[in-house]
Amino acid sequence: MKGGLADAAFFRGFYVDNDPSFDYESTTMSSSRERPFSACVLGLDIGGTEVKAALVNSKGGVIAANRCRTPRTLAELRRSLRLLIAKFQLNAKEVGAVGIGCKGIIDPETTGVLALPGDLHYLEGRKLRELIAPLVPIPCPVVADNDARVALFGEYRWGVARGQKNAIMLTLGTGVGGAILADGKILRGAGGVAGHLGHITVLPDGPVCICGNRGCLETLFSARAIEAEAFAAIHLGVKTSLLDSDSRPPNCDEVFECARQGDKIACLIVERAVTILGGAIAGLVHAFDPEVVILGGQITRAGHFLLDPLQREVDWRTRTLLHRRVPVVKAQVADPSGVVGAAALAIEAVTTASNTSTKRNTRSRE
Ligand SMILES: [Zn+2]
Repeated sequence: MKGGLADAAFFRGFYVDNDPSFDYESTTMSSSRERPFSACVLGLDIGGTEVKAALVNSKGGVIAANRCRTPRTLAELRRSLRLLIAKFQLNAKEVGAVGIGCKGIIDPETTGVLALPGDLHYLEGRKLRELIAPLVPIPCPVVADNDARVALFGEYRWGVARGQKNAIMLTLGTGVGGAILADGKILRGAGGVAGHLGHITVLPDGPVCICGNRGCLETLFSARAIEAEAFAAIHLGVKTSLLDSDSRPPNCDEVFECARQGDKIACLIVERAVTILGGAIAGLVHAFDPEVVILGGQITRAGHFLLDPLQREVDWRTRTLLHRRVPVVKAQVADPSGVVGAAALAIEAVTTASNTSTKRNTRSRE
């Protein structure tokens, strides 16, 4: 059953680097310590390639998970979400909240999608709460934010950013998403756009980006950009093992695999991309002085083949100003998708609201 509960590869992904020795209960968020959250939470991740759903317990553990390809119309998305959610049989479970991570600029106050260019453009102007609430059989709070912020939130609550106040998250997939934790707060900016790190200009006269700018990071380092480079190399007729790939043109995983096997063209593509990403991260490190840089998304499947040269690049570029090494690491709980982070966001929202209400009631009795 591809993509369903029995999809072991997907299911295992949530646990891949999830250190069982973590003391999940003592999170850095005071509200969570005040009132523990016992119900499970539905986490949803609406991305450009896939929609993912998971039932998550209060400690970040995945109870069940489902996913499907991202539909191309709103009606199809509704239908797909209804099917994904129905498989969890929520009416027989205690569900305390729904958390949603979605591409684009999301207003967390209203769950409104303010801007979402690309395949999911049909969500622009809609409120995710109004889309999801009718599909959940139990009335409960629905919260939403940008997918990369949600992924960082998951790392902050249960992963590598736990107990830290400054962190940078980059989600390396078809495009590049980003989020910044600065002095203990996730940056939103004046218009909610802060953290769109895939749209940092790294080559001023580079390729045109989906955002209208030229030479954005994601036009040079992303699965889409790496696959385009491989396609161009094949089209030019150069001798390369990329020609033997199962996919036509080769997908990003195959380009990294060919590079790992020593194919010169694949190595050139990967080395250039890593240099560009390393340069962008070094700039971010200089700007935000983080304790850690976290990488999520499908490209991190390349593991140390990506992380090691990237760390060297960042170290070299930041060696003079920083006087310390900022670790560039793979996401723990929010990889390969943001569903666990979406659940963390929902738990935080519910416990914060509950604590605020308890304090208000206590004050009114005094
Ligand atoms: Zn851009």
